[in-house]
Amino acid sequence: MDHYVLPPAPQAAVPVRGSTQRYAVSRIFCVGRNYAAHAREMGADPEREPPFYFNKTPAHLVPSGATVPYALGTSNLHHEMELVLAIGQPAFRVAPGQALDCVWGYACGLDMTRRDLQNSAKQMGRPWDFGKDFEDAAVISELVPASAIGHPAQGRIHLAVNGQPRQDSDIKELIWSVPEIVANLSHYYHLRPGDLIYTGTPEGVGAVQPGDVLTGGIDGIGEIALTVGQPE
Ligand code: MN
Repeated sequence: MDHYVLPPAPQAAVPVRGSTQRYAVSRIFCVGRNYAAHAREMGADPEREPPFYFNKTPAHLVPSGATVPYALGTSNLHHEMELVLAIGQPAFRVAPGQALDCVWGYACGLDMTRRDLQNSAKQMGRPWDFGKDFEDAAVISELVPASAIGHPAQGRIHLAVNGQPRQDSDIKELIWSVPEIVANLSHYYHLRPGDLIYTGTPEGVGAVQPGDVLTGGIDGIGEIALTVGQPE
Protein backbone atom coordinates (compact mmCIF):
# COMPACT_ATOMS: atom_id res chain seq x y z
CA MET A 1 0.00 0.00 0.00
CA ASP A 2 1.23 3.46 -0.90
CA HIS A 3 1.52 6.02 1.83
CA TYR A 4 0.74 9.66 1.18
CA VAL A 5 0.83 12.65 3.48
CA LEU A 6 -2.75 13.51 2.40
CA PRO A 7 -5.41 11.37 0.72
CA PRO A 8 -4.88 11.14 -3.07
CA ALA A 9 -7.51 12.52 -5.45
CA PRO A 10 -9.92 9.93 -6.86
CA GLN A 11 -8.88 8.19 -10.08
CA ALA A 12 -10.59 9.92 -13.04
CA ALA A 13 -12.65 7.36 -14.94
CA VAL A 14 -15.43 7.09 -17.53
CA PRO A 15 -18.37 4.66 -17.37
CA VAL A 16 -18.53 1.97 -20.06
CA ARG A 17 -21.89 1.11 -21.59
CA GLY A 18 -23.13 -2.30 -20.55
CA SER A 19 -20.39 -2.79 -17.97
CA THR A 20 -19.81 -2.20 -14.29
CA GLN A 21 -16.15 -1.53 -15.10
CA ARG A 22 -14.91 1.95 -15.92
CA TYR A 23 -12.13 3.28 -18.16
CA ALA A 24 -9.41 4.93 -16.05
CA VAL A 25 -8.19 8.23 -17.53
CA SER A 26 -4.66 9.58 -17.24
CA ARG A 27 -4.47 12.24 -20.01
CA ILE A 28 -6.86 14.23 -22.17
CA PHE A 29 -5.78 15.59 -25.56
CA CYS A 30 -8.01 17.87 -27.63
CA VAL A 31 -7.73 18.73 -31.32
CA GLY A 32 -8.24 22.36 -32.33
CA ARG A 33 -10.18 23.46 -35.43
CA ASN A 34 -10.90 20.09 -37.00
CA TYR A 35 -14.03 20.94 -38.99
CA ALA A 36 -13.63 23.45 -41.86
CA ALA A 37 -16.88 25.30 -41.14
CA HIS A 38 -15.92 25.75 -37.48
CA ALA A 39 -12.43 26.97 -38.44
CA ARG A 40 -14.14 29.60 -40.62
CA GLU A 41 -16.51 30.69 -37.84
CA MET A 42 -13.47 31.16 -35.58
CA GLY A 43 -11.84 33.38 -38.20
CA ALA A 44 -9.21 30.84 -39.27
CA ASP A 45 -8.20 29.57 -42.68
CA PRO A 46 -10.02 26.26 -43.19
CA GLU A 47 -7.25 24.76 -45.29
CA ARG A 48 -5.78 21.48 -44.15
CA GLU A 49 -3.05 22.79 -41.87
CA PRO A 50 -1.31 20.27 -39.62
CA PRO A 51 -3.46 19.41 -36.59
CA PHE A 52 -2.74 21.16 -33.31
CA TYR A 53 -3.65 20.20 -29.78
CA PHE A 54 -4.30 21.38 -26.28
CA ASN A 55 -4.85 19.43 -23.09
CA LYS A 56 -7.40 19.15 -20.33
CA THR A 57 -6.84 17.83 -16.84
CA PRO A 58 -8.55 14.48 -16.10
CA ALA A 59 -9.78 15.88 -12.77
CA HIS A 60 -11.93 18.25 -14.86
CA LEU A 61 -13.99 15.40 -16.37
CA VAL A 62 -17.74 15.52 -15.77
CA PRO A 63 -20.13 12.66 -16.52
CA SER A 64 -23.05 13.19 -18.87
CA GLY A 65 -26.20 14.11 -17.00
CA ALA A 66 -24.47 16.30 -14.45
CA THR A 67 -25.44 19.79 -13.36
CA VAL A 68 -22.38 22.02 -13.11
CA PRO A 69 -22.12 25.62 -11.91
CA TYR A 70 -21.63 28.24 -14.59
CA ALA A 71 -17.83 28.39 -14.97
CA LEU A 72 -15.73 30.75 -12.91
CA GLY A 73 -14.14 33.87 -14.39
CA THR A 74 -16.02 34.00 -17.69
CA SER A 75 -19.01 35.76 -19.19
CA ASN A 76 -18.88 33.77 -22.45
CA LEU A 77 -19.02 30.04 -21.68
CA HIS A 78 -19.33 28.04 -24.93
CA HIS A 79 -20.35 24.50 -25.82
CA GLU A 80 -18.29 22.42 -28.28
CA MET A 81 -19.86 19.06 -29.15
CA GLU A 82 -17.20 16.48 -30.05
CA LEU A 83 -16.42 12.88 -30.85
CA VAL A 84 -14.08 11.44 -28.21
CA LEU A 85 -11.89 8.37 -28.59
CA ALA A 86 -10.17 6.29 -25.94
CA ILE A 87 -6.81 4.65 -26.55
CA GLY A 88 -6.69 0.92 -25.77
CA GLN A 89 -3.19 -0.13 -26.81
CA PRO A 90 0.15 1.66 -26.84
CA ALA A 91 0.58 3.77 -29.96
CA PHE A 92 4.00 5.19 -30.77
CA ARG A 93 4.84 6.43 -34.28
CA VAL A 94 2.01 4.41 -35.78
CA ALA A 95 0.84 4.81 -39.36
CA PRO A 96 -2.79 5.79 -40.01
CA GLY A 97 -3.40 2.27 -41.31
CA GLN A 98 -2.50 0.78 -37.93
CA ALA A 99 -3.95 3.54 -35.73
CA LEU A 100 -7.47 2.17 -35.32
CA ASP A 101 -6.08 -1.01 -33.76
CA CYS A 102 -5.04 1.23 -30.84
CA VAL A 103 -8.50 2.76 -30.29
CA TRP A 104 -10.51 1.02 -27.57
CA GLY A 105 -13.77 2.92 -27.91
CA TYR A 106 -15.72 6.11 -28.44
CA ALA A 107 -17.84 8.60 -26.54
CA CYS A 108 -19.64 11.91 -26.95
CA GLY A 109 -17.90 14.88 -25.37
CA LEU A 110 -18.43 18.54 -24.64
CA ASP A 111 -15.26 20.65 -24.77
CA MET A 112 -16.58 23.49 -22.61
CA THR A 113 -14.70 26.69 -23.36
CA ARG A 114 -14.32 30.06 -21.66
CA ARG A 115 -14.33 31.79 -25.05
CA ASP A 116 -13.55 35.26 -23.71
CA LEU A 117 -10.44 33.98 -21.94
CA GLN A 118 -9.42 31.87 -24.95
CA ASN A 119 -9.81 34.82 -27.32
CA SER A 120 -7.80 37.19 -25.16
CA ALA A 121 -5.08 34.54 -24.80
CA LYS A 122 -4.96 34.15 -28.59
CA GLN A 123 -4.67 37.90 -29.10
CA MET A 124 -1.88 38.20 -26.54
CA GLY A 125 0.02 35.10 -27.69
CA ARG A 126 -0.56 33.41 -24.33
CA PRO A 127 -1.42 29.76 -23.59
CA TRP A 128 -5.02 28.60 -24.03
CA ASP A 129 -5.17 26.79 -20.69
CA PHE A 130 -7.39 29.26 -18.88
CA GLY A 131 -9.84 29.19 -21.78
CA LYS A 132 -9.97 25.41 -22.07
CA ASP A 133 -8.82 23.65 -18.92
CA PHE A 134 -11.00 24.58 -15.99
CA GLU A 135 -13.23 22.79 -13.51
CA ASP A 136 -16.00 20.73 -15.18
CA ALA A 137 -14.67 21.62 -18.65
CA ALA A 138 -14.50 18.07 -20.06
CA VAL A 139 -17.97 16.53 -20.22
CA ILE A 140 -18.14 12.92 -21.40
CA SER A 141 -20.79 10.29 -22.03
CA GLU A 142 -20.45 6.56 -21.48
CA LEU A 143 -17.72 4.97 -23.58
CA VAL A 144 -18.78 2.35 -26.09
CA PRO A 145 -16.18 -0.24 -27.08
CA ALA A 146 -15.10 -0.51 -30.69
CA SER A 147 -15.60 -4.25 -30.22
CA ALA A 148 -19.34 -3.47 -30.08
CA ILE A 149 -19.74 -0.70 -32.66
CA GLY A 150 -16.64 -0.81 -34.85
CA HIS A 151 -14.86 2.41 -35.81
CA PRO A 152 -17.49 4.87 -37.08
CA ALA A 153 -16.21 7.12 -39.87
CA GLN A 154 -19.52 8.87 -40.41
CA GLY A 155 -22.61 9.73 -38.45
CA ARG A 156 -24.59 12.81 -37.47
CA ILE A 157 -23.14 14.86 -34.61
CA HIS A 158 -25.53 17.34 -33.04
CA LEU A 159 -26.18 19.52 -30.02
CA ALA A 160 -29.23 21.45 -28.85
CA VAL A 161 -29.59 24.01 -26.07
CA ASN A 162 -33.02 23.98 -24.38
CA GLY A 163 -34.21 21.96 -27.37
CA GLN A 164 -33.03 24.54 -29.90
CA PRO A 165 -30.58 23.12 -32.47
CA ARG A 166 -27.12 24.70 -32.27
CA GLN A 167 -24.67 22.25 -33.85
CA ASP A 168 -25.52 19.73 -36.58
CA SER A 169 -22.88 18.11 -38.74
CA ASP A 170 -21.36 14.72 -39.49
CA ILE A 171 -18.15 13.19 -38.18
CA LYS A 172 -17.22 12.45 -41.79
CA GLU A 173 -16.54 16.21 -42.02
CA LEU A 174 -13.52 15.91 -39.69
CA ILE A 175 -10.54 17.54 -41.44
CA TRP A 176 -8.20 15.07 -39.70
CA SER A 177 -9.84 11.67 -39.30
CA VAL A 178 -9.56 9.52 -36.17
CA PRO A 179 -6.74 7.33 -37.58
CA GLU A 180 -4.89 10.41 -38.83
CA ILE A 181 -5.15 12.12 -35.42
CA VAL A 182 -3.93 9.06 -33.53
CA ALA A 183 -1.06 8.59 -36.00
CA ASN A 184 -0.06 12.26 -35.84
CA LEU A 185 -0.25 12.54 -32.06
CA SER A 186 1.72 9.29 -31.68
CA HIS A 187 4.75 11.13 -33.08
CA TYR A 188 4.64 13.56 -30.15
CA TYR A 189 3.57 11.28 -27.28
CA HIS A 190 3.72 7.62 -26.39
CA LEU A 191 -0.05 7.15 -26.48
CA ARG A 192 -1.27 4.51 -24.09
CA PRO A 193 -4.40 3.19 -22.37
CA GLY A 194 -5.88 5.99 -20.30
CA ASP A 195 -5.52 8.60 -23.03
CA LEU A 196 -8.68 10.30 -24.28
CA ILE A 197 -8.70 12.43 -27.42
CA TYR A 198 -11.43 15.02 -28.06
CA THR A 199 -11.41 15.32 -31.85
CA GLY A 200 -12.72 18.86 -32.40
CA THR A 201 -16.09 20.50 -32.83
CA PRO A 202 -18.22 21.31 -35.87
CA GLU A 203 -19.67 24.75 -36.55
CA GLY A 204 -22.41 26.28 -34.43
CA VAL A 205 -20.56 26.81 -31.15
CA GLY A 206 -22.18 29.37 -28.90
CA ALA A 207 -22.76 30.68 -25.43
CA VAL A 208 -24.74 29.01 -22.68
CA GLN A 209 -26.45 30.63 -19.69
CA PRO A 210 -27.28 29.47 -16.17
CA GLY A 211 -30.33 27.21 -16.36
CA ASP A 212 -29.58 25.95 -19.88
CA VAL A 213 -29.95 22.26 -20.67
CA LEU A 214 -27.58 20.89 -23.32
CA THR A 215 -28.45 17.67 -25.14
CA GLY A 216 -26.48 16.13 -27.95
CA GLY A 217 -25.45 12.94 -29.61
CA ILE A 218 -23.53 11.14 -32.29
CA ASP A 219 -25.33 8.54 -34.38
CA GLY A 220 -24.02 5.08 -33.61
CA ILE A 221 -22.18 6.19 -30.47
CA GLY A 222 -24.57 7.68 -27.96
CA GLU A 223 -25.96 10.77 -26.31
CA ILE A 224 -24.79 13.41 -23.87
CA ALA A 225 -26.48 15.93 -21.61
CA LEU A 226 -25.39 18.74 -19.31
CA THR A 227 -27.28 21.26 -17.20
CA VAL A 228 -25.61 24.58 -16.51
CA GLY A 229 -26.36 25.71 -12.97
CA GLN A 230 -26.09 29.07 -11.28
CA PRO A 231 -22.61 30.56 -10.84
CA GLU A 232 -21.02 30.05 -7.44
MN1 MN B 1 -12.92 21.72 -29.08
